[in-house]
Amino acid sequence: MPWRKKLLGLKEKDITGKYAPDVALTNDLMRTLLQESPEKKELKIYADSKESYFSKDVLEVTNKETIIGQVIVLRNITPFHELNEAKTNFIATVSHELKTPISSIKMSARLLTDNRVGPLNAEQHELIRSITDDSDRLLKITGELLNMSQVETGNIQLKLQPASPLTIVDQAVQAVQFQAQQKHIRIQTRVAENLPFIQADLEKTSWVLINFLTNAIKYSPEDSGIEVTAFRDSNNIEFIVKDQGRGIDEKYLPRIFDRYFKVPGTHDRNGTGLGLSISKEFIEAQGGHIWVNSRVGEGSSFGFTFVLA
Ligand code: ADP
Repeated sequence: MPWRKKLLGLKEKDITGKYAPDVALTNDLMRTLLQESPEKKELKIYADSKESYFSKDVLEVTNKETIIGQVIVLRNITPFHELNEAKTNFIATVSHELKTPISSIKMSARLLTDNRVGPLNAEQHELIRSITDDSDRLLKITGELLNMSQVETGNIQLKLQPASPLTIVDQAVQAVQFQAQQKHIRIQTRVAENLPFIQADLEKTSWVLINFLTNAIKYSPEDSGIEVTAFRDSNNIEFIVKDQGRGIDEKYLPRIFDRYFKVPGTHDRNGTGLGLSISKEFIEAQGGHIWVNSRVGEGSSFGFTFVLA
């Protein structure tokens, strides 16, 4: 196949009939192809003086149940990559451009409630409250879309610094306290004493915890409780948000951190299905690990782990 030779940069006689690991000794790409990397399905290959993207599938060839070889299939997905990049840039531009006018709608709404502009009747107050609520919602969505596009383009800028786990938890809990009170939900925090500082981006890590908490509040019944814990487990610091909400069906758990994924039947018109996928990116970019544990009817636990330096 000419494409194969072109990619590998080898002549036909140098590969045909040769044992692949032998070819790999002198060929970087062949070496990469033979490496088992289940989590990395996409390969970036520089060929023909441009970058191309390939998906890699490995099929085993068997004879009477014995594996006698492998066929490695590379599919050129560069056009999809380019379209995806265009989509991401479009989302980034649009969400960025929308932020300013939405903020100014919020500002004008706030000015209207100021008595110096003139008195308002109860109905007008109510209308302004609804304008403010909707603009908050729009700002949240545009913020998430912007976060997502930064994640996709690899533009996450981390401000890593020594951060106190207690500060991260306190910041997050404070940010959602009002929302929780409205549903009479008690948030109990249990942060182990004298926890060491972690190397983390304070703002992004709190953002993840706020996202866990907002979901926990959203999917919990009124008058229930939510528990936030942070503790040390050998060389790890664990953060966990545990709710007594409706829980998540086991079959959806593997997809819960996927972009735009919402559990079918979730009637939440504000949800974008982006929060958890951004959370995963934020935590993994800092070298951490994110996880979920949940059962229908028994509540959910969402957590992340940081390894101590
Ligand atoms: P959204 O903005 O829609 O909440 P997320 O990525 O934060 O997006 O969450 C994805 C989906 O996971 C939600 O739509 C919901 O179905 C489910 N989910 C997240 N957290 C919880 C929770 N604590 N309890 C039950 N379901 C949850």
